[in-house]
Amino acid sequence: MAADLAARLSAIEGKVEAACARSGRRREEVTLIAVTKTFGPDLVEAALAAGMRDLGENRVQEAREKVARAAGRARWHLIGHLQSNKAKEAVALFDCIQTIDSEALAEKVGRHAEDAGKSLDVLIQVNVGGEMQKSGVAPEEIAAVARAVDAHRSLRLRGLMTIPPLLPGESVRPFFRTLRELRERARETWPGCRDLSMGMSDDFEVAIEEGATMIRLGRALFGERT
Ligand SMILES: *Cc1c(COP(=O)(O)O)cnc(C)c1O
Repeated sequence: MAADLAARLSAIEGKVEAACARSGRRREEVTLIAVTKTFGPDLVEAALAAGMRDLGENRVQEAREKVARAAGRARWHLIGHLQSNKAKEAVALFDCIQTIDSEALAEKVGRHAEDAGKSLDVLIQVNVGGEMQKSGVAPEEIAAVARAVDAHRSLRLRGLMTIPPLLPGESVRPFFRTLRELRERARETWPGCRDLSMGMSDDFEVAIEEGATMIRLGRALFGERT
């Protein structure tokens, strides 16, 4: 496992560097988030041993044991939809919540962070493909949600996140480009809104070329989920 992981990580690193070079970007601009969902807590140890420091989970419940296991050695990102009844625990477990998708959720997360005396990074999830089944706000709702985030001192709006439609290769590029354009617009009002969390195992190189600052990798690092 450890040898596999080291080999995969090294192959990915090469691709990340090449994509940065092609697009005139510095490697340090791109953070690799290792998505440990569905894998057991032992994998967290392996990821930490391989040098990964940013880890992603899509469910609060599943994150509980893993966050405890990593105790202070990782930065945890919530990348899955957050139900408001789980907001309090999400605030306690995660360092960055990437899936703020309504004013009500921003409000709830902000209040729990205040109560906990915690300063939390958040991203707004945008449904760039306008897909019915996907969570995320429509582009025209970003400003309202950003204002709701901004109303809480406990929250720092760091950027935008998206999961584009499931399309092969180059077909996803326009969606990544759209998210970057939306970020440019948001940044005029909220200067801290800088990050672009986009790109997964099959499309992270395209995402980097379009400006991704966070790529979220599961299968490319750890193999197929069972
Ligand atoms: C599972 C997941 C990922 C990782 O997907 P892979 O295709 O395994 O790289 C990234 N982002 C989100 C939101 C996910 O749910």
